[in-house]
Amino acid sequence: MQYSDSLPAHNAESLLVHFRRVELLKSQATDFKSVFLNPHQLCDLEMLVNRAYYPLDGYMCREDYESVLDGMQLADGTVWPLPICLGVDEAFAAGVEAGESIAIRDAEGFMLAVLTIGDVWQPDLEREARVIWGDDVPADGVNAAQCSAANPWYIGGRVEGLAFPQHYDFNELRLTPAELHRYFSEKGWRKVIGVQAGRALHKADRAMLEEIALEENASLVLSPLMFPSMYSSVDHFTLVRCLQEFVATFPKNMAMLNLMPWFERKMGPKGALLRAIVNKNYGCTHMLVWDSGKAEPRLNVDTDEFQKHVDWLAEQRDATGIVPIRERCMVLDEASGKYVSSDCGSLCVNDHNAVISFLKRGEEVPERMSFPGVLDALRMKYKPRSKQGFCLFFTGLSGAGKSTLAKVLYVKMLEMSGRPVTLLDGDVVRKNLSSELSFSKEHRDLNVTRIGFVASEIVKNGGVAVCAPIAPYAEARREVRRMIEEYGGFVEIHVSTPIEVCEQRDRKGIYAKARAGIIKGLTGVDDPYIAPENPELRIDTSELTPNEGAQVVLCFLADQKYLGQ
Ligand code: ADP
Repeated sequence: MQYSDSLPAHNAESLLVHFRRVELLKSQATDFKSVFLNPHQLCDLEMLVNRAYYPLDGYMCREDYESVLDGMQLADGTVWPLPICLGVDEAFAAGVEAGESIAIRDAEGFMLAVLTIGDVWQPDLEREARVIWGDDVPADGVNAAQCSAANPWYIGGRVEGLAFPQHYDFNELRLTPAELHRYFSEKGWRKVIGVQAGRALHKADRAMLEEIALEENASLVLSPLMFPSMYSSVDHFTLVRCLQEFVATFPKNMAMLNLMPWFERKMGPKGALLRAIVNKNYGCTHMLVWDSGKAEPRLNVDTDEFQKHVDWLAEQRDATGIVPIRERCMVLDEASGKYVSSDCGSLCVNDHNAVISFLKRGEEVPERMSFPGVLDALRMKYKPRSKQGFCLFFTGLSGAGKSTLAKVLYVKMLEMSGRPVTLLDGDVVRKNLSSELSFSKEHRDLNVTRIGFVASEIVKNGGVAVCAPIAPYAEARREVRRMIEEYGGFVEIHVSTPIEVCEQRDRKGIYAKARAGIIKGLTGVDDPYIAPENPELRIDTSELTPNEGAQVVLCFLADQKYLGQ
């Protein structure tokens, strides 16, 4: 079978291969080793395969990688700012060699591509970080192609695509570079400004984009920044819906929305340059440059640094084919009630934060700030506390009073809140959700994060989760807080009843058993309990009745506006 020996030439539009070759590769793949991509890596693979990273036809090999770090260009001289390599762990790297084919799969194991290995090497990641960020490596900077910490070895080589990564959301808004380019040609859009937005846009943004588009005689293509995650997050849906509503405020021939797998890399000028190349490959001629790509683009809009950054991008124009357009500072003209551009940086408005604050307080957003459709979309995520879900998370020693308080509050919540309420008692969860787990540290943490996962789903859907595990370790509690605060309120209640009181109560007889050596690893006796440092509430039940303890929690909830209208 001759055609299996050599790699076929890719068609210009994507790295997807002919279905006959797909069949062949699938039949061979049982012998291939597999790499399972994380969500960031999936975005990069999609941009390779759909040719948003044209002219790359696979992950960079070592020669290109070194050349990019040394002089910001591929080995053949093409300007390229950042490495795009496949990061793998050491054990995987040790088991493969040049010339070998490996399967690239998504987290579920679905085969998306075959990589014919050109090089396997261990890069100098510190050097790479210095080249990308200079001396100022941000804590949350993600070099997603590599995901360096977990994957410190690199693989380069040509990619043959079998399928695009699967998406189930907004499929009609996901044109590939070739499709988008064709769309522009059909519409006669000769000049197109690419606008990547990481937040909802409002009336001031609308005025700025309209002003720029009219000046340049160009159309606009807006793209939300992606939030790579295993499951599409609420943030993603909220942002896309906001941008859909925002785009709908423009005349049809002036603006459109398209989802590209681009996420914020926080890689400063070099990240912006890669974004310029991607915009070009999607058929754009111009690109909006937000103030240093910061989350709050309107701050320091007039700083020299920002202008230098835009000038530097403009110098690369011959290489990228993209004209960078600097974000403008908009101010409200009181007389007309409209936003107009201004040179005066200090008067810049940042309506987005103000809009979110209004929504969170449950107040009307002033009409001059945003559009009703955008606000409705934002309300999906930003609800006033009285409409949000929340979690009451009791932690403390056995016998401290967690279950008792949780039960009283469960009943009170059902009586008054109008939200669905779920009780996840420690002992009950241990019998059901976590029946196979022991009381080792690892299993205790797993039990707590399982409770956190269930609670976060409840909170996500506007419910109240009342949880009462012992939860003796700080890290697992922190993780639960993180999971829940993404969707609603987290109220950590340390039931701090002293061990002497718990032991005296000894409702389940376990302290007596532990002191007699019949059971081992009881929290507070021969297993640690790390008390929370900053819980929302601390309740010692020694001198309180259960109703009095519950009242403390209810007062806190009322004070924090979780209860009521
Ligand atoms: P845990 O769930 O923390 O192991 P339990 O709620 O099962 O603790 O047991 C606590 C015991 O303390 C129960 O017998 C309960 O009646 C008693 N108790 C006395 N005062 C209080 C109070 N203010 N809050 C909670 N429990 C109390």
